[in-house]
Amino acid sequence: MMWEKKVRRVVPYTPGEQPGTEGILKLNTNENPYPPAPGVEAVLARADVEKLRLYPDPEALALRMALAARYGVEPEQVFVGVGSDDVLAMAFLTFFNGGEPILFPDVSYSFYEVWASLFGIPYRCPALDERFRIRTEDYLTDNGGIVFPNPNAPTGLMLPLSEVERIVAGNPDSVVIVDEAYVDFGGESALPLVKRYDNLLVVQTFSKSRSLAGLRIGFAIGSKRLIGYLNDVKFSFNSYTMSRLAIACGRASVEDEAYFEETVGRIVQTRERVRGELEKLGFCVLDSRTNFLFITHEGVPAATLFEALRSAGIFVRYFPKPRIDGYLRVTVGTEEQMDRFLAFLKNYLKDRSL
Ligand code: PMP
Repeated sequence: MMWEKKVRRVVPYTPGEQPGTEGILKLNTNENPYPPAPGVEAVLARADVEKLRLYPDPEALALRMALAARYGVEPEQVFVGVGSDDVLAMAFLTFFNGGEPILFPDVSYSFYEVWASLFGIPYRCPALDERFRIRTEDYLTDNGGIVFPNPNAPTGLMLPLSEVERIVAGNPDSVVIVDEAYVDFGGESALPLVKRYDNLLVVQTFSKSRSLAGLRIGFAIGSKRLIGYLNDVKFSFNSYTMSRLAIACGRASVEDEAYFEETVGRIVQTRERVRGELEKLGFCVLDSRTNFLFITHEGVPAATLFEALRSAGIFVRYFPKPRIDGYLRVTVGTEEQMDRFLAFLKNYLKDRSL
């Protein structure tokens, strides 16, 4: 078709599968197994449906104020979006416009490559070291911008804050985006650095530690100058990104600190228990500071185990990519869910005398 010549062609990101059938143990997209804070349910129960005729606040101020209070910054330093994917996409569009290649690790969140291609941003991917660690030196060269997850995904490994600071301090002429989607599960946030570095953007999400993947809320915190530029692009794209329900529920979630700490604490406890059990079964498990485990077993190819788990109704994530195709990424669920996962593995390995 002639019109196809005019089409913007891209290779899209592939999200993890969302199975329609009941009874599947879903450990493939790093969702939180616990419900959102009770305040969220209360907001929905008394939601004023009649109000949905009206546009939401384009500034999403109620949510930004709650976040500003929680993280000790000004509301003008907070940007919110439809999940951190939306925030990150806006940040790529806003800050990576310099012509030089941007940098992100060879093993990291695969959406970065997709946004770079979509927006025509050149990029380079320095290799993690042999133990999957970010090498700070790789990011102390000329670049058009920097982005990396911390803790990294899908490895789960954390880069110490001192190293993050070396990268931010060493790049005063670029914007450095730290994607902290998983930081609440034991990472070290770069938020305290925002006061001192106006080129640092810290991005977080409500999808993991706040159990709100279905509502789609993400946010970024940075200097007022940085957030100002981000707003200019956002308001040139879509004024009303946050629905009335997202603003109200997001706020209720942020305001329940005790629930947040309790559920995050439970996931961390389960993670450490499961890690120990997996090691007893002969798995090598990376030191996760997230709500997932990145695991490999000498005796079974990851692709084979992935299919076997799938046939048993247990979904995990497998990335058929160089360097990580020997690993599976397993979301940490409830104690009972992880018992089902471990029981399957025990039998599977025993049947094969492994
Ligand atoms: N960053 C990383 C590293 C992630 O793994 C994810 C989850 N796929 C996201 C960002 C985006 O999450 P969300 O859009 O749900 O906030």
